[in-house]
Amino acid sequence: MTEGLITTLLHHDRRNSTHGEIHAPVHTSVQYAFKTADQLVQAFEVSGNRTAIYARSGTPTVFALEDKVTLMEGGVGTVCFASGMAAISATFLSLLNAGDHLVASKYLFGNTASLLRSLARLGIDVELVDPASAGSVEAALRPATRMVFVESVSNPTTVVADLRGIGALCQLRKIPLVVDNTVLSPLLFQAKSVRAALVLNSLTKTLAGHGAGLGGSVTDLGEFDWTGFDNIAKPYRIADRSHWALVQIRKRGLRDMGGALSSEHAHSIALGLETADLRVRYTCASALRIATHLASHPAVSRVNYPFLKTHPQHEFAQSLFAGGAWLLSFSLQSGVQSFQFIDALKIPAKSTGLGCGRSLVIPVARTLFGDMSPEERELVGIDEGLIRYSVGLESTDDLVNDLDCALSEVGES
Ligand SMILES: *Cc1c(COP(=O)(O)O)cnc(C)c1O
Repeated sequence: MTEGLITTLLHHDRRNSTHGEIHAPVHTSVQYAFKTADQLVQAFEVSGNRTAIYARSGTPTVFALEDKVTLMEGGVGTVCFASGMAAISATFLSLLNAGDHLVASKYLFGNTASLLRSLARLGIDVELVDPASAGSVEAALRPATRMVFVESVSNPTTVVADLRGIGALCQLRKIPLVVDNTVLSPLLFQAKSVRAALVLNSLTKTLAGHGAGLGGSVTDLGEFDWTGFDNIAKPYRIADRSHWALVQIRKRGLRDMGGALSSEHAHSIALGLETADLRVRYTCASALRIATHLASHPAVSRVNYPFLKTHPQHEFAQSLFAGGAWLLSFSLQSGVQSFQFIDALKIPAKSTGLGCGRSLVIPVARTLFGDMSPEERELVGIDEGLIRYSVGLESTDDLVNDLDCALSEVGES
């Protein structure tokens, strides 16, 4: 019998330990010393293979976390970063050159959308498309296209990308597909199943899970042949070709840009991983019940949740994902004040963030999308009253009651 993923993850550190310790040690050294000059030089030459040299390029504690993320994604290797945004920016900036064309979803996390505007300032030609249609991605492809980027489920609008269609298209046209899988996590969707080249995760959310550790990762899924990708520079075309992109990302995106994950945070994220599967199952069930309840409430005009039958990409979600995750967003009927409603909620923290143990609630437009004008927001599906709700680990009954009380309070006034 083959061992299940969670069992392997739970025993990973112990099986690789020297003293029988059950957690990977928290290595606080910045420097790692070698016995001879020759060994030191060799470590530099092969550091694409992850020898600890200097903590900015990774420590043994971070490498242990990278191995677990690789296992979860079914990939060939992972590079971890200090945050999800550090992983995303490093991936773009390491693999794209000025003059390249990037096809990206128009429904993206606000900070990623802002990052794309910075890429445009640096001479990368960014084209935004509807990710729910592989046809719209195909229509945008040009000879200069060097990457396609989508969120598997968009934050906060929950648009589901046509991952199968886009994956097949990118394979055919030999363009790397990069998927931000933060909202789902590898526990609900494996980007490898649609043959994505790279998958990005904000480890801060589901995987760390307690709102107590910031981190990000990029994993190569071994599905893309980098030998034909002319943006991999000669010094990084070394050793195992399935690692070329990661070597370039580790050198340019981590070593040079410096967004390194600390051993301390890698440790707390690794603790979160141990319970991620349990937490995800609980919050998926809770979120589906809450979404269904809100959708039937007269004061609510629209609920975005991929596992609701009314969701425009419900079929994609149902056929690809093991659950709908803990993220939902909704709008109230016109005339119902969203700020008043949020203030009337007693349980969720009025806070940004996702996938925390506690439920979190935030009005989206003037916070996460505050850099955009109301017209720009409308184009990307953010109406002015949109509320994002990240379902936590509280009792589902308590959350439903709290929402009902707040809705009736504002409905009556
Ligand atoms: C939160 C989030 C990020 C950024 O992650 P951080 O760890 O906060 O930097 C990126 N993409 C999505 C979809 C997110 O929800």
